[in-house]
Formats: sequence, C-alpha cells, structure tokens
Amino acid sequence: MLDDKDRIFTNLYGQQDWGVDAAIKRGDWDDTKGLMARGQDGIIDAIKASGLRGRGGAGFPTGMKWSFMPKESKNGKPSFLVINADESEPGSCKDREILRHDPHKLIEGALVAGFAMRARAAYIYIRGEYIREAETLFAAVAQAYARGFIGKNACGSGYDFDVFVHRGAGAYICGEETAMLESIEGKKGQPRLKPPFPAGVGLYGCPTTVNNVESIAVAPTILRRGPEWFAGIGRDKNQGTKLFQISGHVNRPCVVEDAMGVSFRELIETHAGGIRGGWDNLLAVIPGGSSVPLVPAAQIIDAPMDFDGLRDVGSGLGTAAIIVMDKSTDIVRAISRISYFYKHESCGQCTPCREGTGWMWRVMERLREGNAEIGEIDMLEEVTRQIEGHTICALGDAAAWPIQGLIKHFRPEIERRIIEKNGAAPYAVAAE
Ligand code: NAD
Ligand code: SF4
Repeated sequence: MLDDKDRIFTNLYGQQDWGVDAAIKRGDWDDTKGLMARGQDGIIDAIKASGLRGRGGAGFPTGMKWSFMPKESKNGKPSFLVINADESEPGSCKDREILRHDPHKLIEGALVAGFAMRARAAYIYIRGEYIREAETLFAAVAQAYARGFIGKNACGSGYDFDVFVHRGAGAYICGEETAMLESIEGKKGQPRLKPPFPAGVGLYGCPTTVNNVESIAVAPTILRRGPEWFAGIGRDKNQGTKLFQISGHVNRPCVVEDAMGVSFRELIETHAGGIRGGWDNLLAVIPGGSSVPLVPAAQIIDAPMDFDGLRDVGSGLGTAAIIVMDKSTDIVRAISRISYFYKHESCGQCTPCREGTGWMWRVMERLREGNAEIGEIDMLEEVTRQIEGHTICALGDAAAWPIQGLIKHFRPEIERRIIEKNGAAPYAVAAE
C-alpha cells in the first residue's frame, strides 16, 4: 500500500479548497521558476528517468514522447501542448477529480511540460459533460494568469506561455488525440491517419504533444521530489503512483491513488471495502476501462495492477478504470451494452468500424437472448479479428476486445442460452 507521504494528489477528495492559495499551501507553484531553470533537456531527462508512462491508457513513455518535439522551430511554426481532459472511457473518472480538486497541479504541469517541449501554449480539451469541472478550470486558469504564473514571463522565468481551455461537445471519439486536434481546429472530430504523429504534424500543422491530464499533473511533483523517488515506487517499467477508479460491485466505489503494481485484492480490500457479498461472489473484472478485455475472478485476484501484470492475464491497465462484476451480473448483456456504446460512438469514417460495430452489437443482442446458432459464436470471433488492427484509430480494437474476452472466458454461458432457447444445440457445442 502507498505510504501517505508518497501521495501526489493530496486533495483528491476535495477536503481543502481547489483555489490558488490552498494549492500553494499544498506545495503547488513552489519555485516553479527553479524547476524551469533546469532547462528543457534537464526536465525531459528527469521525466524519462522517472519511468512515467502515459496515464491516458496507452502507457507510452512520457519523457520519450516529449523528446520527439523539435528543438528548433521549422518555418517559424510554433509547437503546442494539448492536454486530453476528454475523459469518456466507460468506468474512467480520475481526471475529473483532478479537475475538480487539484486544477493547479494540472496548470503548473502544463507550464513545465510545455516549457520542456518548447511549446507556445497549452490547450486543455475538456469533456463537454464536465460542466462544473470546466467552470473550476476556467477560474483556476484565470487565477494563474492573475498571479503571473502563466502568460508573459511565466513565473518570472522569462518564458511566455498561454493556457487555453476548449470544451468538447459530447463525442467520445474526440478523446482520440488526432480527432481532438481536428475538433480544436473547428472541424468535425474524426481521427487522422497516423503517421504522421502529432509530434511531427499536429495542431494547425505544427508540432504537438497530446498528453493525458494525470500525466501532466504529476510532472511538477516528480521534478520536485526527484525522478528516483517516483521510479522507486512500483516495479520495473511500471513505476510511480497511479489513480485507480473502482466501480461496480464493491462495497465502497472510489477513486484512489496507490502504487503501480498493487495487487487487485489489496486494492479492493484496502480502499473499496471488499467485494459485495465477499470474494466468492466475484465473477469477473474489466480492469482498465471498457476498451480492455474482461478477466475472470480466479485470474485477477492476485494480479499486479500495472501494464505488465494485466497484460499477463490477457487484459490491460488502460486508464485503470476497474469495473467489478459479481455473480448477479448478466455478463453477456454487460458486454452487449459495451458493444452498443462503441457502435454509437463510431465516427463512421472507416468501413470495418462503421459497419462492424453495428454488426457485432446486433449479433451480441441475439446471443444475449439466445436467439442464435452456436456457429455464430465463432463467426463473431472471426469478425472481431477482421476489425482489430484494420481501422484508422483504436476504437475498432476497443470494440473488438471486450467481445473476444467474453468468448474466451464465458463461451459456455453463451452456449447455454442458445441451447435453452432452442431446446437443443443447432450446431455441435464447441469444447471449452
Ligand atoms: P497509441 O499507442 O496509438 O499512442 C499512444 C501515444 O504515443 C500517442 O500520443 C501517439 O501519438 C504516441 N506515439 C505512438 N507511437 C509513436 C511514434 N512512433 N512516434 C511518435 N509518437 C508516437 O494509443 P492511442 O490511440 O493514443 O490511445 C489508445 C488508448 O487510449 C487505449 O489504450 C485506451 O485505454 C485509451 N483510452 C482512454 C480514454 C480515456 O477516457 N482516458 C478513452 C478511450 C481510450
Ligand atoms: Fe472512426 Fe471507428 Fe475508424 Fe476510429 S475506427 S476512425 S472511430 S470509424
């Protein structure tokens, strides 16, 4: 369990005010000029040494990402930092807590990160449904300007840096980094083909880095306490503290900061009051937001909650949005509902996703009712493989993986429904 002294988000539950004076008392904006005096390369090297990996879901090494940004401006083009606060992954609600209770950590992080990558400004793209959070963020940015922390000669560093807040309008796909850039530019939010990556051609055609809220908000603390402190928490390639969001059938759903690599059991027992009805009542867990495959109870209980630990059980850390399902869950219906979500949120730009998500959802609905043939299970699996890796953005994969997880782990349950509905299996029942 994480020692209290190692917590970064000390106002996670809003016990104190979010405003600038309270933030300063908590240690934010403390000699930010001194942090910047380490120089661009010094900051990037420190973030690399800390082992920080992107907290938005993909886990890309943050320091390496920052180092992709050009050191010299080409053709007079500025560079930009875009902060992804379009938190929409089902189960995810950690960035919301930072925006509500610790917005100055994010704004200070924007300054040091933006400075490190020679960015002219940061755009914070906030989810449209986060109305109160946007109000807080606008007010916190105004406070930071009023104190001279951002804007001209930010923190007395001699560096000019602006922060703009851009509100989304309710489309999940605008959380995809290139769709976000399109949306900020005032266009329809549809993902671009990558490469080129945003570091080469990003916002308004300029070099851009897109980072998640949590990745940026932890940067000033890492610089203050030293990269070796952060790297000393967790385990190799899975370092630091992490915000976990625990929802579903636990006794106390919560958002909590703990060490990377904490076991699932310890996380749930320590912070969420255990599984509703006890551990024997646990059916399955989606450990990283709806885009990652579910894991059956027996395989997750002792799994380390980090990138490698969850990959080893066939899933992923994603955003660390842990959705706990007990034995009262209709697991086929749950995954069908997730399928509907992806069908609804597909931007429709590429055929495997536009047609495939609708097709998968319709089959899932028939499987839920048992109104199908056994052979359709394999056909559905095959279709998920045709979608996976064949679309412009990760939404196609995200739609395919939950279904693959369901078929892998709960095939007998799908077959049971078909057999019960039909009286007998129309096709031979496949062995587990
Ligand atoms: P990705 O692996 O394609 O990219 C990760 C980041 O690394 C991107 O910023 C990308 O530009 C950069 N990158 C990767 N390779 C690069 C290269 N060769 N050169 C330069 N930059 C490079 O993943 P993604 O599509 O950005 O994100 C997918 C993840 O998003 C999923 O794992 C999912 O968990 C997560 N997700 C999060 C939310 C949320 O609400 N936070 C919502 C949906 C999905
Ligand atoms: Fe749009 Fe889906 Fe293609 Fe992504 S995968 S670009 S959401 S159609």
